[in-house]
Amino acid sequence: MTSRRKKTGSHRLRGDIASEGLAFGPVFALRDSARMPKAVKSTPIRERRKLKQALATAREEIERLIEQAPGHGGANVLDVQLAILDDKKLVEPALARIAEGTPAWVAWNQTVATGDDDGDAVGAGYAAARDSDTRDLRERVSRILAGEGAESVPYGAILIADDIAPSTYLETDWSLSGGIALFGGSVASHISMLARAHGVPMLVGLDRAEFVDGAPALLDAERGELVVNASAEELGEFKTRSICASERQGREAMYLPGPAMTPDGTRIRVGLNMVSPGELDSLDPTHCDGVGLVRTEYLFQRARGLPSEKTQFAVYERIVEWAAGRPVTFRTLDVGGDKPIANLSVESEANPFLGVRGIRLALRSPAVLRMQFRAILRAAADGPVRVMLPMVSVPDEITAALEILDKARDDLSRRKVRCGEVALGMMVEVPAAAIAIDEFDADFYSIGSNDLIQYTMAVSRDARDLSVLVKPDGTAVRRLIETVIAHGRETGREVSLCGDMGGDPRYIGMLLDMGLTALSVSPAALARTKATIALHGGGED
Ligand code: PEP
Ligand code: MG
Repeated sequence: MTSRRKKTGSHRLRGDIASEGLAFGPVFALRDSARMPKAVKSTPIRERRKLKQALATAREEIERLIEQAPGHGGANVLDVQLAILDDKKLVEPALARIAEGTPAWVAWNQTVATGDDDGDAVGAGYAAARDSDTRDLRERVSRILAGEGAESVPYGAILIADDIAPSTYLETDWSLSGGIALFGGSVASHISMLARAHGVPMLVGLDRAEFVDGAPALLDAERGELVVNASAEELGEFKTRSICASERQGREAMYLPGPAMTPDGTRIRVGLNMVSPGELDSLDPTHCDGVGLVRTEYLFQRARGLPSEKTQFAVYERIVEWAAGRPVTFRTLDVGGDKPIANLSVESEANPFLGVRGIRLALRSPAVLRMQFRAILRAAADGPVRVMLPMVSVPDEITAALEILDKARDDLSRRKVRCGEVALGMMVEVPAAAIAIDEFDADFYSIGSNDLIQYTMAVSRDARDLSVLVKPDGTAVRRLIETVIAHGRETGREVSLCGDMGGDPRYIGMLLDMGLTALSVSPAALARTKATIALHGGGED
């Protein structure tokens, strides 16, 4: 946290909205990282033992957190850290440095912060998307080596930091309100995803400033502002808005039980986007039209090594059983880009977003895709299941995937294993696919607006500085979406949209006017989406 002045009067800072909502509470600024341990005389053997003990303690702490973690992928994030802890490429270079006489704390921080000299350690090997997990782990082990306890965030606080670790987020009880404002961070990060799923208000890219701990703050993640030491008038207005917001949430919740219907009687199917079965416990299947997107890559991220067919089947089956007859759409592994997976994704690509990701990677690892298809086909014996291919750019990718699907079916019939039929659809998230959609013979289309916008506008999903270019209702993106909807209508194929835009009330009306009749949204956006549909053209916000 650099170049900040402590502010004591009322002031207003701008930030980008990562998770919508309003929160009022005392500011709590998280310090940057663990302090150095006191220098004491030691030996390489003692330092080696210290690091091993610290790693074991870190493992115990993380496992405890996993047990307590709420749904929405929280435990998955921590499982990634356990997998990193298991990686010999992480521990061995640190132990080698210790053997050369480097103290454990220094050896650990050097290895994890920079990657080893041969470019093969964590800093190099885990690429950008793993940075927050790796940093989190580095700080946890550093803190343990320094003999310090974990710093906990007080209830109801507005947490201010450069960035926060997934475990800090998960260790904090957000049920009593509170919120997050980060100088760094990005709307597309793990933490932002968790905050949205749990309804915790959050801003990222906040203007730089330094605060007095405990100063009262209004976190306005509807307008994108943090107001510290607000005036009585500002506080009054904020409280009125908070009351209106909770009343609105109450009204929106009333739309949950019924089917989503526009005022002119058009039935809109609203599915859920999910990443892990842990989310299911707090959700009622009767409130949605099934699951429109299961991001199965999180299952792979959580596994240490590739998950077996049995492990995958158990997870897929649980989701299908939960849906109780409603369709579940499993997206095959979407690895690469911002979602690397050790031992599977191609490392050291100059631009992973334009590299071997999604279906491109799956087709290079046909055995992995075939095993995933087998697990999905087996789950399809218990209810309606659809399969969806990510990042399709040319029709041949569908043909190649279909061949692998056929082989997976043959595998199961040879083994006499019970399985069901699946429809094979595709994500439309590469502009080339949207433009030439008539050449793609898929059973259904689901528009991935997050990537479609990024590739159409040539703006990375987490480039905050360029967010002004990212307009989901801009002409170019709109035309692509219209092209897909029109082709779906002409050929009788379902077109849905499962990117964040589908759960954003600012764009739902536009999508309905274009003729879209299916959306898939995050659980936190479900009530609002259904209410927005019901009131479309009816005048309420
Ligand atoms: C999308 O790109 O819109 C999408 C739904 O996929 P993901 O966000 O998982 O890339
Ligand atoms: Mg995508």
